[in-house]
Amino acid sequence: MSDLYARHKAVLPDWLALYYEEPLEIIHGEGRHVWDADGKKYLDFFGGILTTMTAHALPEVTKAVTEQAGRILHSSTLYLNRPMVDLAEQIARLSGIPDARVFFTTSGTEANDTALLLATTYRRSNQILAMRNSYHGRSFSAVGITGNRGWSPTSLSPLGTLYVHGGVRTRGPFAHLSDADFIAACVEDLKDLLGHTRPPAALIAEPVQGVGGFTSPPDGLYAAFREVLQEHGILWIADEVQTGWGRTGDHFWGWQAHGACGPPDILTFAKGIGNGMSIGGVVARAEIMNCLDANSISTFGGTQITMAAGLANLTYLLEHDLQGNARHVGGLLAERLRTAAARLPGVREVRGRGLMIGVELVRPGTDEADPQAAAAVLEAARADGLLIGKGGGHNTSVLRIAPPLTLTVPEAQEGAAILERALRTVHE
Ligand code: PMP
Repeated sequence: MSDLYARHKAVLPDWLALYYEEPLEIIHGEGRHVWDADGKKYLDFFGGILTTMTAHALPEVTKAVTEQAGRILHSSTLYLNRPMVDLAEQIARLSGIPDARVFFTTSGTEANDTALLLATTYRRSNQILAMRNSYHGRSFSAVGITGNRGWSPTSLSPLGTLYVHGGVRTRGPFAHLSDADFIAACVEDLKDLLGHTRPPAALIAEPVQGVGGFTSPPDGLYAAFREVLQEHGILWIADEVQTGWGRTGDHFWGWQAHGACGPPDILTFAKGIGNGMSIGGVVARAEIMNCLDANSISTFGGTQITMAAGLANLTYLLEHDLQGNARHVGGLLAERLRTAAARLPGVREVRGRGLMIGVELVRPGTDEADPQAAAAVLEAARADGLLIGKGGGHNTSVLRIAPPLTLTVPEAQEGAAILERALRTVHE
């Protein structure tokens, strides 16, 4: 055990789990690569749980951050803040939400907390509809709407939560149905639930479940849900913490895969927008955002240095069409992995959208989740110079691939080759 690991264990919570038997200390990054404390280089297919949206040490972001740090490090929402207004204008425009207002936080959890505060206040109800197998953060209210048990340490909650079917297409009681029948069954389930409950404030959902293993419902599910929700005045909160900013390739936001539902009433974002700096936020129609009777409710949300980073990062993303790159390179990568998986034992499915690709592992010849294999693949890939993530509601048996969106085709091929070797090794 390294000295740093021993010190980590002695002073930090036991539940602050680390990847790898010998945990990794990353000290340097460039482009799609990172280096550990021993100087070993890795291709990064997980980008700090999707926080490195464009590239490690992107010069444009580094310049914006250092220039801002050299001018002033100051945080208060009580004064005018030019980078905050600049970034809010861009996000409001991109959100698709009419008459949008943007509120910045420092994390995805806090963004969802704020969304819940808005929805429960606006609707005068603390009942929330959430998806099974979901993940929305770690605050007291966010764990209460997180349907993924492994990530939800308490069942106590200030909210009454009802879990809806639909976030996971490939498992569960409706898995055998066609896409259209799956949607119809989930809608019936939702209607039935609404017949038995007090009026909920909102439905919160990740368009593609992230921690839950990169699973998406068939396109159109949320449009069908939306019709039912609107009949009851229930708001729809899209948690775009993992799916935003073009990562899913075909769309800038995950909700757009459900087209006809139109923009959500409330959208939350975080992770990639800061390229590693802590930015989260909420977008909502003015009518909803302004329902709170409050003074400023944040000190650090929208601090100048994070806003400067976010602006530089977003500008780069848009100018270089990284959504198009996610579609193109992600499509090639998923295709290659699908072809390889057909010849490998223990791969149940390769799925995903753009540069958000999941590889679900099962014990060969069965449909049983194989978390041991997932852990072993992570170790083997690391030894071979590739970092990936894992997740999934079924005992973390899904490999998660979410590289920075500037990933090149040769890098995608290199990573796929390492991953295929690791998958083969584990079953040898
Ligand atoms: N929502 C989703 C969909 C997430 O994936 C996460 C983080 N994994 C969060 C919310 C919470 O974000 P944070 O860790 O920044 O609080």
